[in-house]
Amino acid sequence: MKILIINAGSSSLKYQLIDMDNESVIAKGLVERIGTVDPTTDLTYTWGDKKIKEKHLKKAKNHAEAMSVVLDVLVGKDRQDAEYDLNEGEPHLVNTGVISDLSEIGAVGHRVLHGGEKFTASCLIDDTVIAAIEENIPLGPLHNPANLMGIRACQEVLPNVPQVAVFDTAFHQTMPPKAFRYAIPNEYYTDLHIRKYGFHGTSHRYISARAIELLKLPANSRVIICHLGNGSSLSACVDGKCVDTSMGITPLDGLVMGTRCGTLDPAVVEFIANRKNMTPTEVLTMMNKKSGLLGLAGDSDMRNVTARYDAGEPEAKLAIEMWAYVLKKYIGSYAAAMGGVDAVIFTAGIGENHVRAREWAVEGLEFMGIKVDHERNVNARGEAKISPDDSKVQVWVIPTNEELAIARDTLDLATTGKVR
Ligand code: ADP
Repeated sequence: MKILIINAGSSSLKYQLIDMDNESVIAKGLVERIGTVDPTTDLTYTWGDKKIKEKHLKKAKNHAEAMSVVLDVLVGKDRQDAEYDLNEGEPHLVNTGVISDLSEIGAVGHRVLHGGEKFTASCLIDDTVIAAIEENIPLGPLHNPANLMGIRACQEVLPNVPQVAVFDTAFHQTMPPKAFRYAIPNEYYTDLHIRKYGFHGTSHRYISARAIELLKLPANSRVIICHLGNGSSLSACVDGKCVDTSMGITPLDGLVMGTRCGTLDPAVVEFIANRKNMTPTEVLTMMNKKSGLLGLAGDSDMRNVTARYDAGEPEAKLAIEMWAYVLKKYIGSYAAAMGGVDAVIFTAGIGENHVRAREWAVEGLEFMGIKVDHERNVNARGEAKISPDDSKVQVWVIPTNEELAIARDTLDLATTGKVR
């Protein structure tokens, strides 16, 4: 079966078409600037070894129009206004088709940010599910409305195809109350559902299952998963199930990230708001978008911050020290919470690719039995063990694959009505 994966943002729509017979990506792309003030749309599309960029050509005023652009591209329908830049010679029209007919799409899987406490697993989308995603808008004010636009757009253009919702928060719903509650009066939890939810759940779930399989971990294994990208989060997993995670009611909490500050004293919000004459919303926007590596070192990209560190810039040195220090404290606290740790896994952009960042993250943790072998770390490609054989704790790099995890759930639900 061929499955279309949709990840809708407020003005963008990312998609992948996956052939589940061999779990290969047939085509993928990104539509940007949907319905923006200047209503022009950009499309980037990759299939096989080919790539196109289409600029300012097909206008997509909303997600439904963006979806129909995507479907036209997948079936290779001629679009009068389409002109492709293949980065070779003059822009020209090409046949982008990878399927002959839309009926080849067996199901659609949607990434949905916030499932609140309602969703502990992926599910087939019906009116009740849509209503529940709507109810969770206060918890995911930017993403849930966009996700709903993606779902509605697909229902419009592919009315008879099963649609599945896969929630970023669902994997973390196994956390016990002592981990997910905040120590504020109970009514804020009972009335407003203020608690820790956690994010990147699809990635943590994929890695957790893959680690048990790949490392041949015994029952009740204790694993710390470090999803380190532009957004970063950690999870502590016992027997494959999440018992704690570093993001909170929103993705702002926890580690020092590309543009997010991570954990700090919440009183800082009022303090800055008063002193700088800013609203709480403005302070939180600063904490989400202008902080972390960007706020400390002037750049959100770990590669660039590393280059500045190597050039001797003190701001970059401090940013990297803080990035590693906070991460290390979380690793230590999760080992304490689980009564030990059997494996530490690195994943996502930094975790999979940044050799030195992995060493910074665990430097000094040898006392806990966590060691990295420099040669193995430097040579790690794909799934790779980077701890020495005598290390008490196994340390691995496992590339994440959120789209595949979404596609697997979508296939299961579309064919059997259940998730594995
Ligand atoms: P997002 O949260 O946006 O999905 P990613 O998982 O793509 O983020 O991670 C982006 C981060 O990964 C950036 O900080 C970038 O510097 C880092 N990164 C990506 N590729 C490499 C690489 N080859 N070497 C070192 N760091 C990398």
